[in-house]
Amino acid sequence: MSYCRRSSHSDVYLYPSACGRIVCCACSLGSVSAMSVEFDTAADALRHLQAHVAAGQMVPDYAIERLQKEAGERCLTTGNR
Ligand SMILES: [Zn+2]
Repeated sequence: MSYCRRSSHSDVYLYPSACGRIVCCACSLGSVSAMSVEFDTAADALRHLQAHVAAGQMVPDYAIERLQKEAGERCLTTGNR
């Protein structure tokens, strides 16, 4: 299930890949247009979404909240590696 899809209230399409990574599909950030970007952790993807927000793009609150929750859970489960 995607975190958010491109719509009238979202400029980004972010979804989890089959191998546990998170993909910003056809990312509109940066000078190279329409490149998909992958992240290993929810925390990295969260920072990326915040960069979209900083660039003045629309990112749904629920996508950010879901990543914040997943980033917190990931910290708990991998805290002692
Ligand atoms: Zn992006």
